[in-house]
Amino acid sequence: MFGEILKPVAVQCVVCRTWIAMRLDEEDLACHRAGVLVQVAFTDQAGVPYLNAGERELFISGVCNECWPLLCPASQLEYD
Ligand SMILES: [Zn+2]
Repeated sequence: MFGEILKPVAVQCVVCRTWIAMRLDEEDLACHRAGVLVQVAFTDQAGVPYLNAGERELFISGVCNECWPLLCPASQLEYD
């Protein structure tokens, strides 16, 4: 819990299929899978998130930092 025992974990982006490696606490991951919000599950004892925004997005939407701007409605207009 609280990001105390960080282990390397790889999460695959659903868009580009790239595996993104990060370090997180498996107990926190279990909490998240049980339904706890990412912003709450992956925090240290002070309640500060220890995953960066891009890493959290992989758990929320399954999309990596590189692909996120491509899916953003504002940038989709550029492809019309
Ligand atoms: Zn991607």
